Amino acid sequence: GCDWKRFLRNNWLLLSTVAAVVLGIAIGVLVREYSKLSNLEKFYFSFPGEILMRMLKLIVLPLIISSMITGVAALDSNISGKIGLRAVVYYFCTTVIAVILGIVLVVSIKPGVTQKVNEIDRTGSSPEVSSVDAMLDLIRNMFPENLVQACFQQNRTKEYKVIGMYSDGINVLGLIVFCLVFGIVIGKMGERGQILVDFFNALSDATMKIVQIIMCYMPVGILFLIAGKIIEVEDWEIFRKLGLYMATVLSGLAIHSIVILPLIYFLIVRKNPFRFAMGMAQALLTAVMISSSSATLPVTFRCAEEKNRVDKRITRFVLPVGATINMDGTALYEAVAAVFIAQLNDLDLSIGQIVTISVTATAASIGAAGVPQAGLVTMVIVLSAVGLPAEDVTLIIAVDWLLDRFRTMVNVLGDAFGTGIVEKLSKKELEQMDVSSEVNIVNPF
Ligand code: ASP
Repeated sequence: GCDWKRFLRNNWLLLSTVAAVVLGIAIGVLVREYSKLSNLEKFYFSFPGEILMRMLKLIVLPLIISSMITGVAALDSNISGKIGLRAVVYYFCTTVIAVILGIVLVVSIKPGVTQKVNEIDRTGSSPEVSSVDAMLDLIRNMFPENLVQACFQQNRTKEYKVIGMYSDGINVLGLIVFCLVFGIVIGKMGERGQILVDFFNALSDATMKIVQIIMCYMPVGILFLIAGKIIEVEDWEIFRKLGLYMATVLSGLAIHSIVILPLIYFLIVRKNPFRFAMGMAQALLTAVMISSSSATLPVTFRCAEEKNRVDKRITRFVLPVGATINMDGTALYEAVAAVFIAQLNDLDLSIGQIVTISVTATAASIGAAGVPQAGLVTMVIVLSAVGLPAEDVTLIIAVDWLLDRFRTMVNVLGDAFGTGIVEKLSKKELEQMDVSSEVNIVNPF
């Protein structure tokens, strides 16, 4: 009786989102079967979903800025260095493991060897990027020349052609670097800086309140997003052709998220990883539905802080940075896709080339923004590094929208486990900080 009610009260949002997914799939399949919608009508159909996306993207900018600045400012700078280093080590290790897993799977399953290039239709057009440009852009992005412009960067000039790096026009990487420095500086300013710290703390609280409101709309938006997608997809046949490739990617993502990440979490934190993952369910589901880790960020925050009770000082730092540079799913995917394309082209890869693919896949996942199909664009870095034609991304474009959803989910899961792990590793520093801030209250001098 009572337990059941409590369960409903605590999980109504998750339950209604799951219901929305099921209902959305059903409606999508029915409309597809029984009515002939014109393209325009299809477009109208996903309108409520479009509104959800717009609201999430809207809140991402204040969320990243306020959470990064307050997160860093709250930490003593010696300590924040340590915590940051732990986060980066975690990001790096898990990304490399994901790449190795992907390579092992694709080399042993050989999804491309059974087919030839001409059996798969090339769809879409390929982006025009060279790998040197892409690498330079990654670094260039860290130093936006204009802070306001970094919030809505629209230039797609020659220099800025790596569209994969912009989260819907926001140069997230650049903002993160700036907020990191800004947070450290105002944290160190003591009393003079306090007014800014208070301001951004208030901004952060207000933002989270708005996130809460947006999340009430989520089930409706998601229902129409998924139904609209099912109605829209034209070519289901391609799934059969690329089946083995998709199976390789999906099984890699599954092993990484069900075995490897939970194991790492368990070994370090010594708590049940699946319970932790369940706490993130709403965020994971959102990631699958909207295939963008940066637009999922508001939900990731809420799950980590409210459901899993991770220390805010950790989430504010680990989540925004993670959503931008820690993409295990994307790294795994890029490695598999590159080897798959080599197999399609009958190219025997040497060990050196496989190492090159691993290194560039890692870099490409760091460079990719958390927006839909960004990974497909940064794939070009990987392909051109081993001398494969960049146009060959067109071979896998047709199924990318589906794989994108699942790799985004793994990206979000990786960030989430990261918060738990970094929190555990930083227990001592966090406690020390609690003690010293108590002392500060009693005696500010
Ligand atoms: N959509 C992915 C994300 O937002 C990036 C990618 O395309 O791999 O995490």
